Amino acid sequence: MKYPSYLNLTASELEKRIQGLYELASPCRLCPRECRARRAEGERGFCRTGLKPWVASFGPHFGEERELVGRYGSGTIFFSGCNLGCVFCQNFTISQLGEGEEISVADLARIMLRLERLGCHNVNLVTPTHQAPMILEALALARDQGLEIPLVWNCGGYESVEALKLLEGVVDIYMPDFKYGDNRVAARLSSAPDYFERACEALREMHRQVGDLVVRNGLAVRGLLVRHLVLPHDLAGTERVLRFIRDEISPNTYVNLMAQYYPTHRAWEYPEIARRITSEEYKRALALAQSLGLHRAGPH
Ligand code: SF4
Repeated sequence: MKYPSYLNLTASELEKRIQGLYELASPCRLCPRECRARRAEGERGFCRTGLKPWVASFGPHFGEERELVGRYGSGTIFFSGCNLGCVFCQNFTISQLGEGEEISVADLARIMLRLERLGCHNVNLVTPTHQAPMILEALALARDQGLEIPLVWNCGGYESVEALKLLEGVVDIYMPDFKYGDNRVAARLSSAPDYFERACEALREMHRQVGDLVVRNGLAVRGLLVRHLVLPHDLAGTERVLRFIRDEISPNTYVNLMAQYYPTHRAWEYPEIARRITSEEYKRALALAQSLGLHRAGPH
């Protein structure tokens, strides 16, 4: 078997996946929001994305988990628009205010190849869900021109299982957020009233495809890496999220428990999240992960 996995797919199999994703995109069911926007006819749904890659920036990134960064960085591509509407999004100018440029699929392929030439250890797609068809089409072009670093699917966790199935054997590293254990909070802060169930289904499917995270020579090779941002007043529902991961995914799951929440964008309009978390709140989350036996959970 070749590595990364996408090198094993025949051109016709990859083409089938691309077509499958384009079909899901119009009327759009690419994510659980199922806006049904006819993107092929110019309509745009919640994520305001059409059928061209919409990219804000790209380059080697050294602020990600060390298993992705290695020595030469993670080859990050920031995609504009988002299928979630987090009122505290730290990238809100990109995800919600439309910063970025529509480019061609060939240009996106060139970006992937450029990141590889810069020595990046992976192509880190942030946030790819709503642009999945164009990303796979660009991957096919880049693969023909020699791309051979793995893809990191760096997403919000609000994913459609049907779309994820089309990524099997294409994506080696899934890096979803698991943001909320309580749908009422997800509805208020991210406009996603069914977030918890959809994230559970998505994580099960991702783990079925790639398993626990495998790290070789300090670098992530394949597997699932979950991010959980601790929120003030335990609004992220940390216990429910961690229990699900331990009981229904794996106690060996690599979990990045993140402490860096700060109020930005529209967070000031929501008094419950208008402050950073306290060190006690973070320590409680960490102690909880330890008491549950999630031995790969921590600040990464
Ligand atoms: S990807 Fe965008 S348009 Fe499609 S269902 Fe999700 S939010 Fe709606």
